[in-house]
Amino acid sequence: MSGRDRVEARLLPPAQLLATAPWAAATAVMLYGLAVWAGWWAMLAVVVIRVLFWLRAMLKFWAAPDEITMIRRHRQWPDMVPYGPERTEPFTALVGAMLDVTKAAGRSDTWLRIVLRTWAPEAAGMALPRRLVAVHISAARELPPHHLRAVVAHELGHQLIGGWIFASIQNLVATPLSDVFGLPSKVLIAVMSVRTRWEIVPTALMAALYGVFLAALTAAMVPAIGLHSAATLAMVCVLQPFPTMWLNWRGEFLADRVAADLGFGPALFDYFSTRGTKFEPFSFSHPGLITREIRICGRVRDWPSDQED
Ligand SMILES: [Zn+2]
Repeated sequence: MSGRDRVEARLLPPAQLLATAPWAAATAVMLYGLAVWAGWWAMLAVVVIRVLFWLRAMLKFWAAPDEITMIRRHRQWPDMVPYGPERTEPFTALVGAMLDVTKAAGRSDTWLRIVLRTWAPEAAGMALPRRLVAVHISAARELPPHHLRAVVAHELGHQLIGGWIFASIQNLVATPLSDVFGLPSKVLIAVMSVRTRWEIVPTALMAALYGVFLAALTAAMVPAIGLHSAATLAMVCVLQPFPTMWLNWRGEFLADRVAADLGFGPALFDYFSTRGTKFEPFSFSHPGLITREIRICGRVRDWPSDQED
């Protein structure tokens, strides 16, 4: 990573956490309201239940086994831990990709941990805590070797950004409120990505959706802090997904840059341009493919030439 990228990688996770501050404030306001209305014990009970669920989710995340661990467990307890031959071939392909990428990054063979994933087929690769990279089993089986390397290199970029502690705190302070009341902005982002012209009906529906969620969130906070503050905080919260989306995109561009700098830029470009849908629009978590391709083009110095002798 270049010096500038390293600074950005350092700043991104705390910035993401900072961006969720409105949700943390709204959560605190609602808990305070609950304490006044039902008593402090009720508030305490809600906090304890929330923290327990969060701990359970974190433990599951943190303890997620990699493929080597799964194979070892299978050898130890073949009846209890199944490991089918259908995993062997994609595993070999993935190990090859992982070794090439870590070598290009100047890291040891064991720096990245890998696992074949069977859930969430829409994403080929996924970065998880403790340097675990989860690649979907069909991607490991079907992608040509250079595409698989490009995917792993991009995920290595996410691992270099890291910040899992920040992400988990962010999850604790923002959810479930952000999941519920962030909905209108997430719907708007989804609609914006596929719609360039706005007719009257979708516009009116969007406005109504914002109105309902804004009113509900305000109403929930009024008892604790009064109408004016509640309405202001609700407005900031409901629009909060936009700065988070911007930060999400920066993380994706940065991971792409890492992959490009390691020499996997042309492969990543090729992977994007041959992906099933020719035009993949942007989303809350990812910028559009065209934008990413353009940026990769700007980053790659040496394109492999077919005409070379
Ligand atoms: Zn990514």
